[in-house]
Amino acid sequence: MPNAEVLATGTELLSGDVVDTNSARIARALRPLAIPLVQVTVVGDDLPRMVAAIRAACSRSEILFISGGLGPTVDDVTREAVAEATGRPLRFDPELFETIRARFEAFGVPMPESNRRQAFRPEGSRVIPNPIGTAPGFLVEEDGHLLFALPGVPRELERMLAETVIPYLRERFPPKEAMVWRVVRTIGWGESLIDERLQDLLRGENPQIGLNAHPGRVDIRIRAHGVTLADAQARAEAAVRIIRERLGAAVYGEGEETPEAALILALRQRQATLATIESGSMGMLGGRLAAADPEGTVFRIGEVRARLAAAPEHAAEAVRRHAGTTFGLAAEVRPEGEGFQATAALATPKGPKIARRALRGPLPHAAEWVAHMAMGLLWRWLHEEDQ
Ligand code: ATP
Repeated sequence: MPNAEVLATGTELLSGDVVDTNSARIARALRPLAIPLVQVTVVGDDLPRMVAAIRAACSRSEILFISGGLGPTVDDVTREAVAEATGRPLRFDPELFETIRARFEAFGVPMPESNRRQAFRPEGSRVIPNPIGTAPGFLVEEDGHLLFALPGVPRELERMLAETVIPYLRERFPPKEAMVWRVVRTIGWGESLIDERLQDLLRGENPQIGLNAHPGRVDIRIRAHGVTLADAQARAEAAVRIIRERLGAAVYGEGEETPEAALILALRQRQATLATIESGSMGMLGGRLAAADPEGTVFRIGEVRARLAAAPEHAAEAVRRHAGTTFGLAAEVRPEGEGFQATAALATPKGPKIARRALRGPLPHAAEWVAHMAMGLLWRWLHEEDQ
């Protein structure tokens, strides 16, 4: 398989104003093709640096994606840089010009003269259509190297990858192996405990398993490959089964599922209801649960107070009684020393549960932690004690 690189261009990426997310988009798009992305380079809108970066990338790798710099202004130098690096002069493409002009016409605005620049492309290149923007991309093939120039606007880049670039690469380099990705999501257990339980799996190569820790929850990422898709899927599935067995009630879902969505669903299935009260946590616990239950059939009341009137376990019980719900959750974040003390409490028909933790870092981080601590308490209660 050929190696691929990304050259993300734009002075705004170097100044810290914009974070380079396009490289990650390209990396994700390449995964099913099993084309390894081996290097990402970031350069400003600077012609000599871009030419040097293109030449360097082509000396190492067979495929290069350039993101950005295809706009109509003079600081958009990708066209010139590719032309210079590959020794292909820029040629005006009347058909492309017509496409760009028609686009403006469709929006009922006259085309600014500067957009004429976008109708130039290196000799021998192929146009990569941009169905949702004015900046078309292009592909140059040079000495067995493929150079894809794509616009910087993430939506446009993503669409062009999906519609043109990836299908082209799939045909050109048919994947010899199938790849499957799964994510198992957990809440309420620390990364080290999960690491300990999954030691042997984490050392394996196929599937490859890795942990991603977030405030108050950990994701387990599984990547399996196989000769066929069914083979890769079976390997991933076997790993997911073992992980679920070993981690039990810490697992709340898979894929893109959020803890609040999983919790609302579990409560709805039990015809149970919930109320929350919180302080110092930016309303994050109640806000997220409310967003996951827009009809409010499960989540009844979410109070946000400057201070809790009682200890969190009493506050959880008080809000449960007051709202007449099956469960009550309380969350509290208090400044302590250089960080925070976070407390979550759960009130159930069979008594309370409580979790405490000292935290460092900014307040939003502590708020996310305590919201996950509280949701984790209820999730575990539903899956362990309510049997
Ligand atoms: P346009 O004609 O729309 O200007 P372009 O190819 O010239 O397209 P840029 O001007 O480089 O693209 O970038 C357009 C916008 O896309 C930038 O303002 C920035 O917000 C976003 N962008 C550019 N590069 C990246 C990147 N690597 N990751 C995420 N966003 C990016």
